[in-house]
Amino acid sequence: MNPYNIVWIVIDALRRDVLEHMQFLSKFSARCVVLEDAYSVTNTTDPSLTSMLSGLYPLTHGVVQHGERVEPRHLACVGAVDFIQKILKKLGYATAAVDYLGRWHRIGFDIYASPIRRVEKRTAVSTIKKLLPKRVKMLIRRVVPARTRLGLPYLAEDATELAMKIIGELEGKRFFLLVHYWDTHIPYRFSECVEHGCSFECPHAIDARYRVRDLSRWVRGEWVKKLVDTFGEATLLNAICSAYMYSAALVDREIEKLVSFLEQRKLLDNTIMIVTSDHGESLGEHGIWFDHHGLYEPSVRVPLLLHIPGMDHRRVSGFAQHVDLVPTILSVLGVKHPRPETLDGEDLTAAIEVGSTNRSLVYAEEAYTERKFMLREGRYKYIYSPTPEAALCRYCNTVHGGIEELYDMDRDPLELNNIADQQPDIAREMRKKLEAMTRDMVRKRVRIKLLSTHAKR
Ligand SMILES: [Zn+2]
Ligand SMILES: [Zn+2]
Repeated sequence: MNPYNIVWIVIDALRRDVLEHMQFLSKFSARCVVLEDAYSVTNTTDPSLTSMLSGLYPLTHGVVQHGERVEPRHLACVGAVDFIQKILKKLGYATAAVDYLGRWHRIGFDIYASPIRRVEKRTAVSTIKKLLPKRVKMLIRRVVPARTRLGLPYLAEDATELAMKIIGELEGKRFFLLVHYWDTHIPYRFSECVEHGCSFECPHAIDARYRVRDLSRWVRGEWVKKLVDTFGEATLLNAICSAYMYSAALVDREIEKLVSFLEQRKLLDNTIMIVTSDHGESLGEHGIWFDHHGLYEPSVRVPLLLHIPGMDHRRVSGFAQHVDLVPTILSVLGVKHPRPETLDGEDLTAAIEVGSTNRSLVYAEEAYTERKFMLREGRYKYIYSPTPEAALCRYCNTVHGGIEELYDMDRDPLELNNIADQQPDIAREMRKKLEAMTRDMVRKRVRIKLLSTHAKR
């Protein structure tokens, strides 16, 4: 067994194409294995993290939902899942996570710590409001609808500081550390960006005339209200995009700090580092504004860098998915997975050696704002919704792209021209394959649960 530490960095909602704009990570890439065509298996945080750390698709471990929509039935199998931190803990690793999600995400971690949330500055208006009698407050609430302003759980600087403190405490032990950065998740570091007058170029061109209020012309659902409450209706869409890029630059600086800290402590040469995002972010593509729903490329393509001790830099072409990480990392460590037959992911170590993977397809699904499934195979990408109702996006009150979509990614990489009607045979074949795959995943979930009950006896 190779006695490497593991530092696993997840940058929430970071698009693949932003990586080139991140100064440190672009430089650091030259010391890493770069998986060029990596995909998440879903587009929300909860199921994505669960898949990343288990090597299982969402339908296999059961957590297909996110946040407040996760029900007890989704978690029925999660206790039986072999998360990588659980496997390594059994082998004597100290396991730690810097995150705030809690719940089942704590499984297998000795330390699960959240940086302290910095309190927002209280404005004069909010102070006066606080002093008003309860009756007046209730009256105001009835006349002025509640604001749904979004906020970040903590800042990147605080996450790095906590991560370094934990590494300091674990020194001398072999450790696995997960660090989750949130700054590239809506609302981004928007007010700070405005304060600094920052102006970053956006990877997706947005017409410079449009403001948040203009969105209501194209999007009708609750999401626009949230955007208005969070950013203000007169804010330029470009300014929000700029804040997204600014936030990516801040996280980049924090990762640089963390890497230099590992270097100073002479730990980097002995540490596997994984840098990825749990999903991407749509910056207006397909009518999806500053969120990550939809199974289009901006939401499911992710950056994926692996710093592996003793391995030179290389770019690896061909598909890779988050579920491949557990088998790949275990293989680099020389550790056997306790139930390799349950894994959905593939060991990519041989592919890394030759510089291209032979994963033939990419699978993804979503359930939070709409229920859709995606299969990417060869040049085609197929997306479908099991029912017309399930295709309706509850955030935007619309059906993005249709109930059944097929794109020729060679000719139409931006997924603008749905050819499902022109190529019904290809669409039918891909749908059949998707249905068979999802049936197998559910079967496997039952088997994992049965196997674990059996093992306990
Ligand atoms: Zn996320
Ligand atoms: Zn939508």
